[in-house]
Amino acid sequence: MQYSEIVETYEKIEATSKRLEMTDYLVELLHRVPREIIDKVIYLTQGKLYPDYYGVELGLAEKMAIRALSMASGLSTKEIEEIYNKTGDLGKTTENVLTKRRTKTLTEFLNVKKEKEKLTVLEVYSTLERIAKATGPGAQDTKIKLLASLLRKASPKEGKYIMRTITGKLRLGIADMTIIDAMAIAYGKTKDAKPIIERAYNLTSDLGEVAKVLVEKGLDEVRRIKITVGRPIRPMLAERLSTAEEILEKLGGKCSAEYKYDGERIQAHKNGENITLYSRRLENITHHYPDICKIIVERVKAEKAIIEGECVAINPETGELLPFQELMHRRRKYGVEEAMEKYPTAFFPFDILYVDGEDFTVKPYLDRRKKLREIIEENDRIKISKSKIVDNTKDLEEFFLEAIEDGCEGLVCKSINLDSTYQAGARGWLWIKYKREYKSEMTDTVDLVVVGAFWGRGRRAGTYGALLMAAYDEETDTFKTICKVGSGFTDEDLKKLPEILKSYEMEHIHPRVDSKMEADVWFTPGLVLEIIGAEITLSPLHTCGLNKIKEGVGLAIRFPRFTGKIRDDKKPEDATTVKEIIEMYKGQLKKAA
Ligand code: AMP
Repeated sequence: MQYSEIVETYEKIEATSKRLEMTDYLVELLHRVPREIIDKVIYLTQGKLYPDYYGVELGLAEKMAIRALSMASGLSTKEIEEIYNKTGDLGKTTENVLTKRRTKTLTEFLNVKKEKEKLTVLEVYSTLERIAKATGPGAQDTKIKLLASLLRKASPKEGKYIMRTITGKLRLGIADMTIIDAMAIAYGKTKDAKPIIERAYNLTSDLGEVAKVLVEKGLDEVRRIKITVGRPIRPMLAERLSTAEEILEKLGGKCSAEYKYDGERIQAHKNGENITLYSRRLENITHHYPDICKIIVERVKAEKAIIEGECVAINPETGELLPFQELMHRRRKYGVEEAMEKYPTAFFPFDILYVDGEDFTVKPYLDRRKKLREIIEENDRIKISKSKIVDNTKDLEEFFLEAIEDGCEGLVCKSINLDSTYQAGARGWLWIKYKREYKSEMTDTVDLVVVGAFWGRGRRAGTYGALLMAAYDEETDTFKTICKVGSGFTDEDLKKLPEILKSYEMEHIHPRVDSKMEADVWFTPGLVLEIIGAEITLSPLHTCGLNKIKEGVGLAIRFPRFTGKIRDDKKPEDATTVKEIIEMYKGQLKKAA
């Protein structure tokens, strides 16, 4: 298969503002993909070479990519940088540069072109793979040469997407669910295909692999895909409500309330002495927590197990839980040992997904907790999340206050009914968050996605004055605007933001963004920022919660401010949801009443 065929599809996807058209183009593409390379085409379309958890990063530094482009085109890096400064997009710059090169030496170009074989998907993929994997002395040179050779063979349009892919910025804005939809339509045959594909994806976190099994062996084989230790499972997520009454009512009058620890979620895979830790985004974070690996080897009494829990920074002298920020010291490549001493942590397991050949995701909550207690030998550094079965609001409130006092964010209330299985990859009502902040005005932060920007004036001339922020709407898989935020940014943030946001820039509003406002600049939803506000109010300007409280109006955050925290651990789909905002608004009203 020629790479140009994929590029044509990407071009169409980029140009459309309609979600269904996006899916149609993908279906068309999938129909043409030979089965041997289906997994590779899926990864490429996701902007990667492997599933995330492999930890193979594309992200070649732009400076290096520009050097490769210079070698391939004959233009100097300075000339290329000038074009890049104007377009702000390395993909478009490449297209532009490769076109220029050709017009400059047309005869040479025609000669080359005659001999030239067209680039195949496989050739592009394997060269990108070699670039990503090159290590050791001389790796930089190797990477640049490989990329230059690829760009020499590429058409300008192909060059555009090769460059975006290798710098880790493909950003077509295609959600995994859209790819699953397209797979179900192209290969599924029956209408049950989608949930089966989705479940397989949730258990493997590897859409390429699922596609391969589907195409080569059929849907029945996809149904048989099982949990594998070492391969992360997509995490179950919680809904949110603002009062104890509502929570109890939703959970059938009785639930297990657990402390909501304020740390980093970890999915730990134990295979004998071999431990792998995954973050909430399923990145391999094993090397951040050698201490937790050790404690799991020592204290988890099973040969193979997959356990989920929260890792929290602690004061070892007092056993006190410390705020989330303290954990950030662990996010480093070097000096982890030293950080480990200075910033000790404890692990609070709250769920078990697999033990020695048995899939626990299909078992009810109480069975999973029983197993957890059976296989974990607790000590100061590993403790099963504190929990209590409650059946009345008074007990729930009391336990909630206790959790806050102990340094937690609140509670996660969990269903104890027979159907309380572990729903991988889903946000549902089996788990409900209850945080302190809903009791007061909006003192709780929300995580919102940057979808647009407005140019600044005065001191902010030449940079952004405000960002248009959106919440995630799960019902429609779109992003609904909720506020324009201009405060809370330091001068340094203001300088950094246009740089960070440049690669998300688009010429039109993204098809998944729903806005009544006209921004000066639009972005592919990608960057998540933590925002705090004074309160949530009705608003005729925003689309978040539109018509949900009152006809014709939506909800907005009043006096929003950036807290300084870029939530790079959250994908846009992990942002605060419209539903959550509506609940927060209702919670506020109740309090005021
Ligand atoms: P949020 O990040 O606000 O959506 O809240 C959900 C997160 O709470 C989960 O992803 C976990 O990282 C964290 N958490 C802390 N304690 C628990 C617990 N006992 N059960 C489930 N999640 C917990």
